[in-house]
Amino acid sequence: MFYFDKINGKKILKSDMADSLCHFFTTRECPVRGNEEFFKTALKAKRIVSPVQTHSANVEIVSAKNEYTETDGLILPEPGTVIYLSFADCVPLIFYDKVNRIAAISHAGWRGTAERIGVITVEKMNKHFGTQPKDLIVVIGPAISACCYEVGEEVFAKLIGTVSDTTGLFSGNFVDLKKINARQLKEIGVYQIDIAPYCTRCNNDLFFSYRKECGTIMRHNAVVML
Ligand SMILES: [Zn+2]
Repeated sequence: MFYFDKINGKKILKSDMADSLCHFFTTRECPVRGNEEFFKTALKAKRIVSPVQTHSANVEIVSAKNEYTETDGLILPEPGTVIYLSFADCVPLIFYDKVNRIAAISHAGWRGTAERIGVITVEKMNKHFGTQPKDLIVVIGPAISACCYEVGEEVFAKLIGTVSDTTGLFSGNFVDLKKINARQLKEIGVYQIDIAPYCTRCNNDLFFSYRKECGTIMRHNAVVML
């Protein structure tokens, strides 16, 4: 279940399924510029890392370096560091492996979803840290929902090919990106998944929407610290 909370007086969204992990999604109330300072103060973080997102399927493990170019997924193995990614309609995926104390965030727009970036993230967590899908908690944040996300034939064909069971994911030309990401993860054995009920386009008072706001450069964030 998702609920709103406050950090330094600003509204944020969280999932109770991942309450043992420091995580949240920012809203329009939170700073967009100066957000790093906001996270640092609010979370008493030592370091902040955020990648240059390009709708790729590239997932990196956070190391001593600070720059991650063409990266749309970050895996976090160390405490004290905040990672965040930026969104306006695309799907934010937060991963938490309680057993190995590893977290991650991925950015799944239609391109990332077509490339199964969520599955790539889990596979990389498994390869490097031994993460088992059954131990994973995945929190799928606010994103444009099936009510508002109509796609063309080419995108539709790319998305439908990423899952075996398409039940409830497609309706006419409308697609449910959050549920497609969830289904991809279910099909590799992840079963603890919480999906935010918020559509960024319908709830534009709370979140930014690239489609509703005609290509806005404003973004909300998915934020994690171990
Ligand atoms: Zn909507």
